[in-house]
Amino acid sequence: MTWLSGLLPDPMEPRSGVRNVPEVTGPGCIFCAIADGEAEASAVHTDERVVAFMDIRPVVRGHLLVVPRRHAIGLADLDPDDGAHMFRVAQRMAAAIRRSDLHCEGINLFLADGQAAGQTIFHVHLHVLPRHPGDGFRVQLDPRFPSRSELDATARRVRETLA
Ligand code: 5GP
Ligand code: ZN
Repeated sequence: MTWLSGLLPDPMEPRSGVRNVPEVTGPGCIFCAIADGEAEASAVHTDERVVAFMDIRPVVRGHLLVVPRRHAIGLADLDPDDGAHMFRVAQRMAAAIRRSDLHCEGINLFLADGQAAGQTIFHVHLHVLPRHPGDGFRVQLDPRFPSRSELDATARRVRETLA
């Protein structure tokens, strides 16, 4: 999980075995194996489209993943209905976590699409991360302050490729 490699709570060991793994898709994909019941996981929810289970290397307690059953590498090949359902289930997971006795005062949802974005398991998935003050989780952002004309120009570049 490269997206968190610099963001781990200080006391936690660096996560081994999940960084910079070679791309695995379809047959041999660990999330397909979990969805098919062929690999072990601590399930929270299953339905015809998605499975939700605990992340094996949680960065906070209650960190879980919502994963479409149908293999897709990332957003480009994700069936939009699977994506919509993945988000819907993540919302339900977030509500359940908030109601639970886990210490949760907030939630982050996170999806890494592509290696540059920190994706390490190339079967699309949505992270659900319970948060509370002092949980040690931090996202270090270094915002820029572009002018309105630069923002407008960037918006135009994206608009031009909207399908
Ligand atoms: P990514 O970096 O691709 O967004 O996140 C992949 C996530 O999958 C990581 O948080 C990692 O801990 C988790 N993960 C990797 N292998 C397994 C596994 O075999 N079982 C479970 N439950 N989670 C896994
Ligand atoms: Zn898969």
